[in-house]
Amino acid sequence: MKETETTTGRDPVPAPENTERVLLHSCCAPCSGEVMEAIHASGIEFDIFFYNPNIHPREEYEIRKEENIRFAEELGLKFIDADYDADNWFERTRGMEWEPERGKRCTECFDMRFERTALYAFENGYDVITSCLGISRWKNMEQINDCGVRAASRYPNLRYWTYNWRKGGGSKRMIDISKREGFYQQEYCGCVYSLRDTNRHRMSQGRDRIEIGVKFYGRDDLDGIGQ
Ligand code: SF4
Repeated sequence: MKETETTTGRDPVPAPENTERVLLHSCCAPCSGEVMEAIHASGIEFDIFFYNPNIHPREEYEIRKEENIRFAEELGLKFIDADYDADNWFERTRGMEWEPERGKRCTECFDMRFERTALYAFENGYDVITSCLGISRWKNMEQINDCGVRAASRYPNLRYWTYNWRKGGGSKRMIDISKREGFYQQEYCGCVYSLRDTNRHRMSQGRDRIEIGVKFYGRDDLDGIGQ
């Protein structure tokens, strides 16, 4: 990974003891930007794993993924692009269509994404997995950590790193990096149900529906930050 102005001179983040290689599950550029810079500044070897079949529609998925690839390339990081097996995601969350955010459907969604991350990590010689999902203030970090630990426990010698990425100014840096890089700013968590619920909420407030692909950090207001 390249040295950058922002990845030097930072306090190291404490990786689990005897960590050799980390696989970072990433959901999008805004959430992973700060985590990527923090891990790099700590001198830890790691790669990015993008597996997010929850994101709907496909157009939104591609935009989020391309933004993440762009930043990984900028930092000289390896980016592993996994399948968009959306059919399996819909199958797995069937019957949970009306669950609220941070409810049972989200547990299933995190489980699915972390199970694939853990499998890839096990098959490719990583000893630690982690995720940037918990940096968003919209997420329940305990729920995410439980899912991550459960996924890692399927394999011998694989651990989930339960670091609180919001700590020590992480939340603020996440926004600063997003503005600096002009990242695409998603306005809903990702699945079709979160899109539906966010639109219903917006319309109840007399606002317009979400338009895919139009909002970028630093160009206008920051209503949807960290979704
Ligand atoms: S709201 Fe977000 S975390 Fe929950 S199921 Fe939808 S995409 Fe997954």
